[in-house]
Amino acid sequence: MYCPICGNQIPDNSVVCPVCNQLVTYQADPNQFGTPPKAPSKVLGILGTIFGALGIPLAILIACFGYIFGGASLVLSIIGKSKNHEDKLALVGIILGALAIVVALINSIAGVILYSSLL
Ligand SMILES: [Zn+2]
Repeated sequence: MYCPICGNQIPDNSVVCPVCNQLVTYQADPNQFGTPPKAPSKVLGILGTIFGALGIPLAILIACFGYIFGGASLVLSIIGKSKNHEDKLALVGIILGALAIVVALINSIAGVILYSSLL
């Protein structure tokens, strides 16, 4: 090794340089002692798996609620001969259903992206 202070060649693992008598901080080999190369984050992969495994059924469940609500509201509005209040309920149901589909799509895309970050 070389002394970092005076630059002379000195015995490996020297604590004090025999040439300049300065304390030598050991220059660790980065391949041996350095921080290991940053591995792909397993957390993202796990998140992706969770999104994929839970997000889609959850979104489908939300979509079902949206459609049940929307369908019920539509039926009620038809039975009630298009009362204004029930039309709004039907609209809310349809919007909830559409939102649920968007959530499902975003969940699927996020799951795929996060999962692919593992590879
Ligand atoms: Zn030295």
